[in-house]
Amino acid sequence: MQAEGIAPSAVSFANLWWQGRWLRDATASMDKAGHCIGLSEGRRRGAPFIGGLTLPGIVDAHCHAFQRALGPWTQRAASRRDDFWSWRETMYALAGRLQCDDLEAISARCYLELLRGGYTQVAEFLYLHRLGVAREPNADRAIAAAAGRAGIGLTLLPTLYQHADFGGAPPHPGQLPFVRSTERFLEDWQELRSRYPADGPIGLGVAFHSLRAVDIDVTTSVAQSLQDDPHCRCLHIHVAEQPAEVAACVRRHGLPPVALLAARGLLSARWALIHGTHATEAELAQLCASRATLVLCPTTEADLGDGCPAIEPYLAAGGHLAIGSDSNIARSALGELRQLEWSQRLARGRRNVLATAQAPAVADRLYQLAATGGLHAIGQAAPAGAAAPQRADFVSYDEDAGDWEMQEPDDFLSTLVFDAPAARARQVMVAGRWVIRDGVHTDEAAIEARYRETLGRLRAIIREGLHHG
Ligand SMILES: [Zn+2]
Repeated sequence: MQAEGIAPSAVSFANLWWQGRWLRDATASMDKAGHCIGLSEGRRRGAPFIGGLTLPGIVDAHCHAFQRALGPWTQRAASRRDDFWSWRETMYALAGRLQCDDLEAISARCYLELLRGGYTQVAEFLYLHRLGVAREPNADRAIAAAAGRAGIGLTLLPTLYQHADFGGAPPHPGQLPFVRSTERFLEDWQELRSRYPADGPIGLGVAFHSLRAVDIDVTTSVAQSLQDDPHCRCLHIHVAEQPAEVAACVRRHGLPPVALLAARGLLSARWALIHGTHATEAELAQLCASRATLVLCPTTEADLGDGCPAIEPYLAAGGHLAIGSDSNIARSALGELRQLEWSQRLARGRRNVLATAQAPAVADRLYQLAATGGLHAIGQAAPAGAAAPQRADFVSYDEDAGDWEMQEPDDFLSTLVFDAPAARARQVMVAGRWVIRDGVHTDEAAIEARYRETLGRLRAIIREGLHHG
């Protein structure tokens, strides 16, 4: 079943944030393909009228939807020294037990929450490929079905994963469900190309799990083989999330991860680098010069105790920045932007770290960066100088969005990001269709019931597995 929203030809908004400023009483016109084809002043008679505050939807540029189920199960100390690596063991326990229906049920609920959290598209970094006894890839079908059910825009990123560490270390048992040979991966890629046509609603890209999980020579040759493939809109990779990973990369290759990718000629506007937590300032400068996108996942990075990179110089130099919900411990675009700035404040001992003289309101600057950077990360940004049609992706916040009515428009976004911790979008439009209207998603009851049944069953299995594992 697909989310079947109504597609109006025009919508009037009380307050619309458009290209960095608030418009009062504006009307957007849409074509049948779901693009905005015009914006005019004033309300239009007969067009639906949306009160509250409306913003362009944000791309969730990095998501592992199945990890949505993990949140509370990893908040109890696994050892005296709990960290990213111990969290990963619980994640493996879940991944190894998922069936296709489970993945669809968890992902549909996750995507519904992401819509409420202000995201209208998601890039699913998918290292699962075959669940159960399937011979053909089936995890992508579960993800596509979940996105269709929720009504969120989807970019699928089938992910190459081969080793436990640098130097071709054999995978751990928990990693086996993710592993594929390069030949199998490229065969699967051809299969996915036939399932998801280049002009269809589901976008495709390719991900490499990390430099520890895929040898740099393999990454280079696979990336080169996709160079002229119009299906492949973007290339993603996790980099420099953990100090141990950076140290191992230097030991093996004499360079830290981002510098290694640059030295191999791999960085370009097609690439999105996830985390970059422990990238040096020089590496971030290389990333910026390449026009690749840095994808930060601030709530997951905080939850896992990763750290945060010093990104002021990177942003000042015009670097592309996107945000991702990653492990989905939080499902709010506004929440990610809040944590992004707060993590910088904690690390630097200052306030409004990511403000500039030209953009003193951090919330305004970060929202604009994330809105455009997210499109870069999934290969949907307009080429420089070109006027590409803009997707009609809108999210509107109202009653539970803080005291925005008491503020001047200059402070609307500051209210949403910093003073409305539980804001949930009440109207969400994706590619010109309503998927949430007046707070209601048409398939919510079924998505919720299926998720509850799945979670209850998996919780029992995982707890049992962890106690005996
Ligand atoms: Zn990730």
